[in-house]
Amino acid sequence: MGEIVIIGAGFAGLCMGIQLRKAGYDDFVILEKAEDLGGTWWENTYPGCACDVPSPMYSYSFELNRDWSRLFAPQPEIQRYLARCAEKYGITKHIRFGVEVDTLEYDEDALRWSVTTMKGEELRPRAVVSGVGALHVPSLPEIPGMESFEGAAFHSAQWDHSYDLRGKRVAVIGTGASAIQFVPEVAKEAAELTVFQRTPNWIQSKPDIDMPAAYRLPGMPRAVRNAVYWVLEARAVGFAVDPRLSGLQKWLAMRQIKKQVPDPELRAKVTPDYTIGCKRILLSNDWYPALGRDNVDLRTEGVAEIRANSVVTEAGEEIEVDAIIYGTGFKVVDAMDHWKITGRGGRKIQEAWSEGIVAHHGTTLPDFPNLFMLLGPNTGLGHNSVVFMIEVQVAHILSCLRMLSETKSTTIEPRPEAMHAYNERLQKRLRKAVWNEGGCNSWYLDAEGVNRTLWPGFTFEFWAGSRKARPEEYILG
Ligand code: NAP
Repeated sequence: MGEIVIIGAGFAGLCMGIQLRKAGYDDFVILEKAEDLGGTWWENTYPGCACDVPSPMYSYSFELNRDWSRLFAPQPEIQRYLARCAEKYGITKHIRFGVEVDTLEYDEDALRWSVTTMKGEELRPRAVVSGVGALHVPSLPEIPGMESFEGAAFHSAQWDHSYDLRGKRVAVIGTGASAIQFVPEVAKEAAELTVFQRTPNWIQSKPDIDMPAAYRLPGMPRAVRNAVYWVLEARAVGFAVDPRLSGLQKWLAMRQIKKQVPDPELRAKVTPDYTIGCKRILLSNDWYPALGRDNVDLRTEGVAEIRANSVVTEAGEEIEVDAIIYGTGFKVVDAMDHWKITGRGGRKIQEAWSEGIVAHHGTTLPDFPNLFMLLGPNTGLGHNSVVFMIEVQVAHILSCLRMLSETKSTTIEPRPEAMHAYNERLQKRLRKAVWNEGGCNSWYLDAEGVNRTLWPGFTFEFWAGSRKARPEEYILG
């Protein structure tokens, strides 16, 4: 087994497996480093972990779920949904758990990839699909003295559930999408909670309702999904058309601050000074109330040093703590830098990306035949569900595989000029977009300030332009 190797059993890898089976392919294996499936929805188990995209849209279009308990499903429910999908479509038997891929090397003579695992095993597939996602390598800040801390310290994606937070003095560093979900939960348990914010986020209210019984009526899941899709898509108007059209988004976020933050000092601290949309717009009903609690202190000065039992602020104040939780996000662009992938002629992927991370339709790369990347460069979204993008990319890959069998070819890779033209168009749009022009710094941008992560427009544009691979853009061998 293993003409096709898929790496990762999260939303992306499972979708690839399901569509391969539907298209009649059975000779594939999914390698998953964890002990169970779900990817990010297996690994992230922090208190309050839930989707911030409405679940009717944050699920496969071909497998709508009548059983979502809430509009924004909690993490265990999403993981169970994925497990059910894997079972229903006969994918579970294709997954090998606890297998972490180390290197990918293209063998030009055999026209096969050599995939080696951390345990030293080698697989020799014709094609490799990466479904590793962008948000799985925890990013920790470099703060002097971190290693000398004697209390509990962990990243939000590696939550230590054995640590009892009740009655403890806790510091949280970071106030992003994960922190705004777990801080309100930690605040209920900790005796004292100090939250270190580097940049405030624009936050809107979260319509986190219980799914009404009517949602289960025939036709409703599809109708709700369509409605949610267009509501979310409307959020792209501000960056895909004109930032001045984001006025409503800003008004909604300001209304949340005015409603939930009566204290003028706290209000000033949490109000962003950059254009809305520059960083991901977050949704929460309990973040601001949590910051207003008596046992919670929001600090806007940075952490200068960590000592055995305390954190020292840049203002020189020493705060004693029992635990530090890092809500500092993930390595995104630089995580790809560490991939050990060698293509034709011994070309390392880092050489191919020496001027920045690119791919054709976010999926394929010249000199790396039959290598496909799900959620590759510039396929991320700030406004809608990435599951939609995954499905478009999976359709693209299937059309590449069809091209191979129809032409009786063995390899497929994009023409360099086609890839450059695609990326030139994409970057031209991005240069004027809110992520570059909005006055904020974010993980969307690489070290040169180029956006290598986000799709610049409406998702239906990606669907229209990328779901089918065009023969004239590819080289078959
Ligand atoms: P994040 O949004 O990147 O937030 C990281 C936070 O840590 C930011 O507040 C950042 O401040 C701060 N930070 C990073 N390095 C720091 C340093 N050296 N010193 C001080 N502060 C530092 O990460 P995340 O919250 O884990 O979320 C990552 C992504 O995961 C999200 O954008 C989202 O796409 C996804 N996510 C999705 C869901 C969902 O429900 N679908 C839930 C959670 C996460 P700055 O803003 O100043 O950089």
